[in-house]
Amino acid sequence: MSPPAAIHETVVPATTNGNGLMGIKKDLAVKAMINGQAKTLAEMENKWESFTFAPIRESQVSRAMTRRYFNDLDTYAESDIVIVGAGSCGLSAAYILGKQRPDLKIAIIEAGVAPGGGAWLGGQLFSAMVMRKPADVFLADLGVPYEDEGDFVVVKHAALFTSTLLSRVLSYPNVKLFNATTVEDLITRPSPTPTNPSAISIAGVVTNWTLVSMHHDDQSCMDPNTINAPLVISTTGHDGPFGAFSVKRLVSMQQIEKLGGMRGLDMQSAEDAIVKGTREVVRGLVVGGMELSEVDGANRMGPTFGAMALSGVKAAEEALRVFEERKMENGGN
Ligand SMILES: Cc1cc2nc3c(=O)[nH]c(=O)nc-3n(C[C@H](O)[C@H](O)[C@H](O)COP(=O)(O)OP(=O)(O)OC[C@H]3O[C@@H](n4cnc5c(N)ncnc54)[C@H](O)[C@@H]3O)c2cc1C
Repeated sequence: MSPPAAIHETVVPATTNGNGLMGIKKDLAVKAMINGQAKTLAEMENKWESFTFAPIRESQVSRAMTRRYFNDLDTYAESDIVIVGAGSCGLSAAYILGKQRPDLKIAIIEAGVAPGGGAWLGGQLFSAMVMRKPADVFLADLGVPYEDEGDFVVVKHAALFTSTLLSRVLSYPNVKLFNATTVEDLITRPSPTPTNPSAISIAGVVTNWTLVSMHHDDQSCMDPNTINAPLVISTTGHDGPFGAFSVKRLVSMQQIEKLGGMRGLDMQSAEDAIVKGTREVVRGLVVGGMELSEVDGANRMGPTFGAMALSGVKAAEEALRVFEERKMENGGN
């Protein structure tokens, strides 16, 4: 049997635009080899009568997917950092982590099929995404074009920001996105302190397929899966059907007394508060983005996204600091 169709990707070395990404796929599919007939798209032109795909057996498709997925489950069962929620904040954190620490295993768990959270539109149902300066620095680093309006910048479509961010994050070999997967609980360990004998630390996440999670009430025996990690970043958005997951769980586990409750809209103070407040809320759990507004009782900010990006940057910075600290506590291992 002839081999299955192969997509040859031209891999170029580190880009020169300063974002330091390795292995960007260039001219994707330009060199699609179809039965050895065509090596470029141009060579396929006007040859559709004789066109045919390379042969495949259905099981090859199944195996190509499942082998990789189960290998990923095995690899990331012990991760270095888990990010819960692939909205603008979580993805921004993953972008920084993946770029700065190719040596770490970073798992992203996203409940939805489509990652991106609330960042596919700029606000309401409008397209443009507004970011107040200095969040333009993050856009420049990503390579997303914008219009400068003085104190703020505008990306012509929020989806341009989100799709670029996603493509950067997903191109890192050490980052795995598990979408359609919900974090159902946190893994905890006793971690008493002199002032709080019942304090815990977070040691990973409990996951399940989102579709399974949605049917716990009408199906039985659907126990979850787990990922261990010394550090979890939670960015599950503000309270709602799915949102503020980890901090609500911290309340039910009596690790924080109550949620502050997201306050009324005040862009001016809300964005600073979220970025400044991004931190390790309990040992092993860094909280960022709108989830944090529920802990701190920060204002909502409406359709402006600079705080989500920079909270992600700070969450990555905090996570790496804590990660290294804990490593030292454990004798450097
Ligand atoms: C109804 C509504 C009102 C809004 N109002 C405001 C507002 O007043 N102010 C404001 O600033 N923004 C508001 N937004 C806009 C916008 O959604 C957020 O500001 C922004 O997207 C928050 O970014 P984030 O990364 O913190 O969270 P999100 O973009 O919400 O991303 C969170 C991600 O986490 C995932 N997730 C949640 N729980 C879990 C779990 N248990 N396991 C795995 N994944 C999980 C979600 O699927 C989602 O993809 C609103 C959005 C909606 C839908």
